[in-house]
Amino acid sequence: MISLLDTGLTENWNGIWVVLSLSVAVLSSYLSFILVGKKGQTRRGQPRVYRIAAGLLLGTGTWLVHVMSLYSYHRRISLHYDPLIAASAFVIVSLSAYIMFRLFVKQQPVTSRLAGAVYGFGVTVMSALGVLSLRPGIVVGVNPIIGFFSIAIIFISAYFALYVLGNFRQSAGFALSQPVAALILGAGIFTAQHIVLGALRVDGMRSLAAVLGYTGLPASYFVTGASVLVTLILAVTWTFMVFERRMLKQIAFLDPLTGLRNRYALAEESDRRMLEDRLGSMVLINLDRFKIINDTLGRDLGDQLLAHAAHRIRTQIQEREALFRMDGDEFLLVGLEKDPELLLHRVNGMLHEIGRPYMIEGNELYVTASAGISLYPAHGQDRSSLLKAADAALYQAKSSGKDKTVFFNAGIGGQLTRKMELEKDLRLALEHGQFFIVYQPKWDARLGREVGFEALLRWRHPEKGVVSPGEFIPIAEETGLIVPMTRWMLGEVCRQSKRWQDEGKFRVCISVNMSYRVFESMTLFQMVDEALRSSGLPGSMLELEITESIAMKNMAITLSQLQQVRDLNVRVSMDDFGTGHSSLGRLDEIPVDTLKIDQSFVKNSDLQSKQALIVGIIGIARLLDLEVVAEGVETEEQAEFLLSRGCILMQGYYYGRPMLPEDVEAGTWRINAPSIGTGTAARHAD
Ligand code: C2E
Ligand code: MG
Ligand code: MG
Repeated sequence: MISLLDTGLTENWNGIWVVLSLSVAVLSSYLSFILVGKKGQTRRGQPRVYRIAAGLLLGTGTWLVHVMSLYSYHRRISLHYDPLIAASAFVIVSLSAYIMFRLFVKQQPVTSRLAGAVYGFGVTVMSALGVLSLRPGIVVGVNPIIGFFSIAIIFISAYFALYVLGNFRQSAGFALSQPVAALILGAGIFTAQHIVLGALRVDGMRSLAAVLGYTGLPASYFVTGASVLVTLILAVTWTFMVFERRMLKQIAFLDPLTGLRNRYALAEESDRRMLEDRLGSMVLINLDRFKIINDTLGRDLGDQLLAHAAHRIRTQIQEREALFRMDGDEFLLVGLEKDPELLLHRVNGMLHEIGRPYMIEGNELYVTASAGISLYPAHGQDRSSLLKAADAALYQAKSSGKDKTVFFNAGIGGQLTRKMELEKDLRLALEHGQFFIVYQPKWDARLGREVGFEALLRWRHPEKGVVSPGEFIPIAEETGLIVPMTRWMLGEVCRQSKRWQDEGKFRVCISVNMSYRVFESMTLFQMVDEALRSSGLPGSMLELEITESIAMKNMAITLSQLQQVRDLNVRVSMDDFGTGHSSLGRLDEIPVDTLKIDQSFVKNSDLQSKQALIVGIIGIARLLDLEVVAEGVETEEQAEFLLSRGCILMQGYYYGRPMLPEDVEAGTWRINAPSIGTGTAARHAD
C-alpha cells in the first residue's frame, strides 16, 4: 500500500490545474459571499433565492476543486467516478453550504459559530464520498493524521472566513471583508483538498489497472459539468438581481395612491437629469385643511379625495412637464414655463379644478388648495434651491389665508430665514434665561379696580431684541418646545402671584395661556400641580386660558385633563372666543368659567355686525352662567359700548398694557385705568 502521490502515475504539481483550482475556490467563495451579503430590499428581508444560489455556488466550487485537485495530480490515468456517489457528494456539500449561509444570516453568535462547522462537516463528507466514488476503487486507506489535518483546515478556514464577514459587516472595512473572507475560505478549500490526496493510501496494482480504463463517468465530465453549472447559477442570479432592482426601483419611486412619481424620485439619477433639462419653474400645490377632512371623514375617504385631486391636476399638465406627489397632500409641478403671467393663469386654473366639488361615496366634498411658485434662475439656480423657494412661497400662501397662489420673492426668503434662525435660537432660550413675563390687568369697569392679570410671555433675543409671542409661539408649538416653556411659565407665574399675595399687593387670579401641545403631552395636571405645590399658591388664584381649537382638537383628552386641574380649584377661560372652530354646539360640555370676547370683535365694535356678535356672546355667557371678559379694549367708546351691553370685565391697552412686575407694582398704570360711570372715564377723556 502506497500513497496516491507515490504511484508514479501522478504528475506532481501541475501548475495550471493548481492555479485554476485555487481560483475556483476563491472565486466561488467570493461570489457566494456577495450573494449572501446582498441586503434584501424588500420589507421581508433578503430573498431566499440569494442564499440558495450562494449555497449552490459554493457547493459547486468546492466540488470542482475536489475533482480538479485529483485531476491535477492524475492526468495520466483516466480517472472515473461513480456518478451516483459523486452526485450525492455534490448535493451534500451544496446543502451544507446553504445551511451555513442560513445560519450565518441569522446573525446570532451561536448560530454563526455553528455555521462554519456545518460546512466543514459537509466538505469532509464530500471528500470521503468523492474518494469512494473513484473508479476503480483504488483507495484502500487513509493516513489519519494527514486526514485530520486536512479536515481541521477546512473547519478553521470556514470559521475565520465567517468571522471576518460577520464582524466587519457594519464597519468601514466592509468593502474589504468579502474579498478577505473569500481568500481565507478559498485558500482553506484548496489546501484541504490537496492535502487530503497525501492522506490517501492506494493499492499499487489496482491503480495500474486504472490506466487501462474502467467504466464510470470520466472526471473531465465533472469538470465541464460543474463549470456549466456555475455559469448557469451566476446567470440566473444575476438576472434575478437586475429584475429585482428594476422592480424595487419602480415601487420605491412610484406613489401607489395617485400613480405619480414620489419625492424620492426627485433625487433619482434619471429624474434629476430630466428635471435639470426642464427647469423653468417649480409649483408646489398643497390642499388646504386636508387634515380636517382626514380626521373627520376618515383616511379612506381622504385617500380617495387625494387621488381625485391628483387626477385633476394631472389633466392640466402639458407635455414636457413632470408632476410629483411630495408629501401627503402636496404636489410638485416642474416645467419649462417661465412667464409669470401665464404661470399664474395656469396654476389658478389648477386650483380652480381642485376646488370643484367631489362626489365620493355619496359625500359631496369641497377642498381648496394653495400654491407657491419659484422661477428659474431668478429664485434659484438648481433643483433644491428652487424647491426651497417654492416651499417658502407656499408657506406664505397658507399663512395669508389659503386658497391662493404666491410667487416667491426676496421678502418671503427673508421671513423664512428669520423663522429658521428663531427656531434654532429658541432651543437655547430657556436654558439661557432669555424669557420674561409681562402682566396685563383685567379691569372691573364698575368697581374700578383690577380683578386679575393675564401673564404673557416675551423673549429677549440677544441680537434681535424682544420677539413677540405671535412670532415665536407657533415655532415653539411646531417644535414641541412650548411644553417646557409652559412648565417654566407656570412656575414663575405662581411664584410671582404668591409673592404679591404675601406682600398684600394683589390678591387676584392670574391667567396663563395654554397650547394644544401641552394637552397632547398629557402633562398638564402634573405641571400645574407642581407649580402650585412649590409656590404654595391656592389653585383658585390660577387660571388657564384655552382656545376653542384646543378644546375641539381632541375633546376627550382635553376635557379629562381640564377636569383634573379644576379639581385643584384652578379656573379655566375660553380665549379668543368666536374666532376658532365653532365650539358653540358643545360649549356646555367644556368646563370653563369665563369667555373672552376676541379683540377682533371689540376692535370693530362700531360695526353693527360685530355689535350683534358681542351681544350674542354676552348672552351666551349669561345663559351658561359664565363670566365674560372683553379683550383688546383700546378706546373709551369701546368700553362704554361693552359696559352698556352688560360686559363689565375688560382687558386692553385702555386699561393697561402688558407690563413687567415692577411696573405693575408701581401702579402708575391705574391712572389710565378709569372706571366708567364713576368720573374716572371723564378724567381720562380730558
Ligand atoms: P392672547 O392670549 O389673546 O393675548 C392677548 C394679546 O393681545 C396679547 O398679545 C396682548 O398684548 C394683546 N393685547 C392686549 N390688549 C390689547 C389692546 O388693547 N390692543 C391690541 N392691539 N392688543 C392687545 P401678545 O402678548 O403679543 O400675545 C399674543 C398671543 O400669543 C396671545 O394671545 C397668546 O395666544 C399667545 N401667548 C402669549 N403668551 C403666551 C404663553 O405664555 N403661552 C402660550 N401658549 N401662548 C402665549
Ligand atoms: Mg390669552
Ligand atoms: Mg385672546
